[in-house]
Amino acid sequence: MPKLHPVIGPVDTEWGRSMLARRALATAKIWRKWQRRAPAVTQSLDQFATQKLAEIDRRNLRRHLIDTDRQAGAIAIRHGRKLISFCCNDYLDLSHHPALKKAAADAIERHGVGAGASRLVTGNHPLFAELEDRLRALKGTEAAVVFGSGYLANVGIIPCLVGPGDLLLADELSHACLMAGATLSQATQFTFRHNDMNHCAELLKNNRMHHRHCLIVTDGVFSMDGGLAPVEDLAALATDHDAWLMTDDAHGIGVLGAGRGSSFLMDTRSNVPLQMGTLSKAVGAYGGYLCASQNVIDLIRNRARSLIYSTGLPPAAAGAAIAALDLIEADPEWAASPVRKARQFARALNLPEPDSCIVPIIIGDETTALAASQILEEQGFLVTAIRPPTVPEGTARLRFTFSAAHMDDDIARLAHAVRDLGLAA
Ligand SMILES: *Cc1c(COP(=O)(O)O)cnc(C)c1O
Repeated sequence: MPKLHPVIGPVDTEWGRSMLARRALATAKIWRKWQRRAPAVTQSLDQFATQKLAEIDRRNLRRHLIDTDRQAGAIAIRHGRKLISFCCNDYLDLSHHPALKKAAADAIERHGVGAGASRLVTGNHPLFAELEDRLRALKGTEAAVVFGSGYLANVGIIPCLVGPGDLLLADELSHACLMAGATLSQATQFTFRHNDMNHCAELLKNNRMHHRHCLIVTDGVFSMDGGLAPVEDLAALATDHDAWLMTDDAHGIGVLGAGRGSSFLMDTRSNVPLQMGTLSKAVGAYGGYLCASQNVIDLIRNRARSLIYSTGLPPAAAGAAIAALDLIEADPEWAASPVRKARQFARALNLPEPDSCIVPIIIGDETTALAASQILEEQGFLVTAIRPPTVPEGTARLRFTFSAAHMDDDIARLAHAVRDLGLAA
């Protein structure tokens, strides 16, 4: 056994050198083995992604994220060019409103940037109570709960209400996150033909009695078509069959029914016990919500996994949403103006009168839709082509959305450009 030298250390001894060499060799072996393996794993993963992308490309469905600098007044800067955006959900241009910016900045100043934890731990900053109280009042319900986003709301709410042994009926054009929530719930799931009350009634008649609870879900305003759900008829059907109705009013709040949404188009509030929506569109901020009875909201607060296991909405978003509700409630005429502008556009092209801020022109194939969007962009209008799987196969379209900030002249010029494309009369 060689003697260890206390000052120079083992490296300078025969034994020390050999020990270090052996260690280095072993490390190198492991390293080489890892190096040999790693590319193989990466290769199969990359191959998988490449093949999938090639398939998406082949069908002209490849999507790209394009840097877009959105500015006040429905302006979008793309590739250095200033475009008028007709494809944003910021219907009231509130995302750039000085009052919202100030409220967001104040909220950051007081409460910080991030919520720091789930709302059930320490992320429940005081703005949540105020925002929920405002939403509850706007929607005429006992209570409200705010989520991180509309998507998180739907995937959280639905599995709290129905599960295995229950029945879930969804309009076939319901938003992807309603469908995701439905799948997560593991309830028996059927879709009814778009807005087809006879089909919905038939599904209820044939299936309701075999299930414990039943939830019917639909968009209040269909996001890619702009049409309304027959909320009154659905509410009546739901009552007749002891089913619960939930509407996703992402495109209704702020702009329909004096800003109160698609359950407020009649003289009295429609009987929708579960009013869900987002603060990310007309409200100009971010976040999702559910308005319902106190007991339902308490249940959601205790059970919705996307609320419990996800960090609370940032204070700035909550503060801005409150400021937006102030503006919407103060001026319902202005809140209704995007729908008026959508109608103005539709009238100029002899299209059916829209009930929302959304006007689709269905083109059919992806290539033509992309080309049409490209031509409009060259003329200074940003109108994104919407393709499957966002919309059903064969229904690629241009989806025009209207904002309170759009000028009448610009709408007229856009209608002209669309007519020149041969896309409408
Ligand atoms: C945009 C949208 C959502 C998602 O809301 P986010 O807050 O953006 O997550 C949900 N439902 C419908 C109908 C939507 O259009």
